[in-house]
Amino acid sequence: MNATLLDRLRTELDDRRVTTGLRRDLVVSGAQGPTLGVDGETLASFASNDYLGLAGDPEVLDSARRALRDQGLGVAAGRVLCGTRAIHSELEAGIAELVGAEDAVLHNSCFDANLGVFDALLGPDDAVLSDALNHASLVDGIRLTRARRRVFAHADLDELERRLDECADARHRLIVTDGVFSMDGDVAALPQLCELARHYDAALMVDDSHATGVLGATGAGTAEHFGLEGRIDVLTGTLGKALGGGAGGFVAGPRAVVETLRQVSRPYIFTNAMAPPLAVAALTAIRVARRRPELRERLASSTAWLRGALRDLGYEVLPGEHPIIPVMLRGGTLARDVAAALRRDGVLAFALSYPVVPQGEERIRVQVSAAHTAGQLELAAAAFGRARAVLAHP
Ligand SMILES: *Cc1c(COP(=O)(O)O)cnc(C)c1O
Repeated sequence: MNATLLDRLRTELDDRRVTTGLRRDLVVSGAQGPTLGVDGETLASFASNDYLGLAGDPEVLDSARRALRDQGLGVAAGRVLCGTRAIHSELEAGIAELVGAEDAVLHNSCFDANLGVFDALLGPDDAVLSDALNHASLVDGIRLTRARRRVFAHADLDELERRLDECADARHRLIVTDGVFSMDGDVAALPQLCELARHYDAALMVDDSHATGVLGATGAGTAEHFGLEGRIDVLTGTLGKALGGGAGGFVAGPRAVVETLRQVSRPYIFTNAMAPPLAVAALTAIRVARRRPELRERLASSTAWLRGALRDLGYEVLPGEHPIIPVMLRGGTLARDVAAALRRDGVLAFALSYPVVPQGEERIRVQVSAAHTAGQLELAAAAFGRARAVLAHP
């Protein structure tokens, strides 16, 4: 063992323990659902990304069980060798249909998809323009390309325009944004981004992980939300949130984009293919999501109700319509204290503080699901109501 390395890591861990504290993952028992078992207690969960409640859908789970029985668990090979099964292609077709793209290619996660996409599509003569609040996987994927990289302040279209000008000599300019940003729950200004992309002859890439299945009348995502179907050149998304919460990611878009990724995306080629039961479950989730628009309607009405209830209690709630509800509890340990009070009242929602969000923008992120009952929504509101006492005597 190398003492120099271990010494350095121990010192850094000690520092971290003092400054930010060490993260300890919560251990949850039982299946994902609107309630979770934690430390022998049952908590109403407002902390998962299971927006449509499909992680617990009987049809989704039955399809996975049947696939496990008939096709086994894993394939022990990459897609490009003998790992591809019919279900992989069927799922890709189902994803393309859901998001309204010509084609789609599976990856084992959206993190993987974002790691592969930039290096596959761009070269040293190109430029990437990335929103400052883009997801970590986009940041890392962009690190892996040889293209020029420019970051613009979150949603700052003027700065984006300056960066586009700066990179006027690039062969391609690719604008990259999350469709929905996970900390603020705000939706990217797609109409303006499409307009800038058109004006500057730039390509547009959207990571719609928090929007696929959620936004738009048919769940196609951010583009459908704005009536801008067909305007996104490269779309990435996850199967691990609204679409059953299993695992998997994808890149969808014009055939040439998707086929290029099949040829060269390293996290597509050099890794094991998705386990068939996961692929079957995701395809079932997509079908249920399309067939049951009432899930999105219920999600929207539950979200609107809880946003209103929290505002009526006097909380500062960042505006928006997305089921991510940021409840701002600025400064010190207020957000953490309120989250602890909620937990004592049987409600699970996480406090986010620096470095996940800037100092002074501490908050609790509440995430609504179509699976929440009226009683669970009321329980959350009541717990936030009682937590006002923490605000009065912090
Ligand atoms: C959750 C998320 C990811 C990661 O998705 P996985 O499939 O879990 O790897 C990527 N991008 C965004 C914007 C996300 O919200």
